[in-house]
Amino acid sequence: MKSDIRVCSAWRERHDRPVYSLSSECPVCSAKTENSAPAPFDPEDPYGEYRRALKRRSR
Ligand SMILES: [Zn+2]
Repeated sequence: MKSDIRVCSAWRERHDRPVYSLSSECPVCSAKTENSAPAPFDPEDPYGEYRRALKRRSR
């Protein structure tokens, strides 16, 4: 499945959760966006474990 949805490349540092966009820049912080297809998290557990890990690391 191919997707045109893009995600802020700096969302891990700048946002609490992925910021999706169809443009080449993040609408929130103007960072470049990258294709969201190669998801950085396990597709079988898209958000739960990943967000817990993120919180553990940054706060
Ligand atoms: Zn952003």
